[in-house]
Amino acid sequence: MKRILLKLSGEALAGDKKTGFDEATCMDVARQVKVLADRGLQISIVIGGGNFWRGRTSENMERTKADQIGMLATVMNCIYVADAFRTAGLETEVFTPFVCGSFTELFSKDKAVKAMEDGKIAFFAGGTGHPYFSTDTATALRAVEIEADAILLAKSIDGVYDSDPAVNPDAKKYDTISLDDVLDQKLAVVDLTATIMCLENKMPLAVFGLNEPDSIADLLKGKFNGTYVTVK
Ligand code: UDP
Repeated sequence: MKRILLKLSGEALAGDKKTGFDEATCMDVARQVKVLADRGLQISIVIGGGNFWRGRTSENMERTKADQIGMLATVMNCIYVADAFRTAGLETEVFTPFVCGSFTELFSKDKAVKAMEDGKIAFFAGGTGHPYFSTDTATALRAVEIEADAILLAKSIDGVYDSDPAVNPDAKKYDTISLDDVLDQKLAVVDLTATIMCLENKMPLAVFGLNEPDSIADLLKGKFNGTYVTVK
């Protein structure tokens, strides 16, 4: 792999607090990403917004407004994590699909690829810039646009299971599964729009648990303990 897109959920950044940021968690992610960057991997990052905002507060709220707040939450997350990366000695650039004044750069494929080629970590904040999408969709879209070799999906769960292990103690974890099977079996690896986008554009994923020590740093060491989601 030469170029990857790492997706972190917003909640993963909050640690046990479930909301806001846990500094130690973010610094540990930064340390691990630096291990990959030091090996010459080109790295981009998408972060969710769940540590700040989860959809509408009530049915009275308009969906588009709730989604705009969600997208802004992802901008806050990227600004915070990019700063944690700076502390860890990494250079970063935060891109958004809409203008955020001087806080971020307006996304373009060329600028993002140039940043990564220059050794910077490219953050894709603000989702797709459109309501009714998710950061999963933004992950699939950006990965395809920047011609990433794979999406690395860091989750609170350590891979893809045939049923929810929190509900079914006999749930079986896959070492490998195809995107076709993910779709057929309606497995919630990423949401449906993102699944189809990965399928159509032959974008593989590696799904793993963020909570396991060094799970990001070990990715290139052949110590992978999660699930490979393959394309035909
Ligand atoms: N969002 C959106 N369009 C996008 C990406 C995100 O409207 O292209 C909004 C949506 O409301 C979503 C929120 O931003 O609920 C945060 O993203 P997500 O729920 O994917 O975050 P995660 O659950 O991964 O922390």
